[in-house]
Amino acid sequence: KQNERESMMVVTNFAARWFTKNMFETDEGQSVGLGYFKQRGFDAEIIKKFQLGYSPDNKDAFTRQATIEGYKLNFLEKTGLTVVRDDYKADRFRGRVIFPIHSLSGKVIAFGGRILKSDAKAAKYLNSPESEIYHKSKILYGIYFARQEMTRQDRTYLVEGYTDVLSFHQAGITNVVASSGTALTPDQIRLIARFTPNITIIYDGDPAGIKASLRGIDLILEEGMNVKVLLLPEGEDPDSFAKKMSGDELRRYISENETDFIKFKTSILLADSNNDPIKRAQLIQDIVKSISVIPDQIIRSVYVKECSTLLQVEESVLYSEIGKIKKKQR
Ligand code: ATP
Ligand code: MN
Ligand code: MN
Ligand code: MN
Repeated sequence: KQNERESMMVVTNFAARWFTKNMFETDEGQSVGLGYFKQRGFDAEIIKKFQLGYSPDNKDAFTRQATIEGYKLNFLEKTGLTVVRDDYKADRFRGRVIFPIHSLSGKVIAFGGRILKSDAKAAKYLNSPESEIYHKSKILYGIYFARQEMTRQDRTYLVEGYTDVLSFHQAGITNVVASSGTALTPDQIRLIARFTPNITIIYDGDPAGIKASLRGIDLILEEGMNVKVLLLPEGEDPDSFAKKMSGDELRRYISENETDFIKFKTSILLADSNNDPIKRAQLIQDIVKSISVIPDQIIRSVYVKECSTLLQVEESVLYSEIGKIKKKQR
């Protein structure tokens, strides 16, 4: 089993080098792949650091070269790099820019590939399938490049996607990881918690982003983490926003605008409820539920005080609701 994982990682690390070489050393790679990253404003330094690459628009150029160099089809298939049918072998990634996904220790374990044109037919991003070395729900994009600074700054910025991570790095902010468009899982939360209990969620400034930032957060609170949220202006994502300012300005913007999660949730729901009494009652339940999962009693009491003011509900009422929820859980 361990041997098999090692062999798979030999293949994925070869593939990362091949995609990079392809981007820098072929005409198609330079004009299409490198051209794409350049046009999006990514520097050579970032492209190198994250081992970005390009998969040529060809049925099996990668698989053929890998085979010539002695890599076994078995491992090419297991890593998802080659799609194998009865009498048909093809590269999974074709005509896409490539974002290698690194393990906590810096080995390439999987890939994300982005189409170049935003034609609606193909999915914008294609990812490696789950495998013995790549468990999507256990890894975060960028964690290897972020871990040191996560500890040093005692905070993690959580963004949605690959390019968000790249742009933060380019701005000099390196304590950033991406959930790759899905809600955080308990394993991912524990991964962050190994380095810091403080998270700032910076999701896209669109309804999907707001929804995603409310989803799954009770899980983070349950782990005793402190969660803040930064809502970006509408139409911006961390990548586009970071490109509009210097690193210092971005840092300042974040620290001035990040808000505590419970307060964020309360104000979003409050604006949503329009003073409708039934909606208001549901909203109070919803917030009380979030507060009730926080393990630390002192932190809970601070939130009760704040929410009592925001919601104009007596603290004692909130406490009694929390008590009811806790009773149910037992
Ligand atoms: P870009 O700036 O290149 O358009 P993005 O990161 O802003 O990309 P979003 O649509 O905001 O793209 O999605 C956020 C993240 O969700 C992506 O970076 C990717 O990890 C994941 N994702 C998006 N679309 C897909 C898809 N069709 N299949 C798998 N993952 C996806
Ligand atoms: Mn989005
Ligand atoms: Mn986005
Ligand atoms: Mn984007």
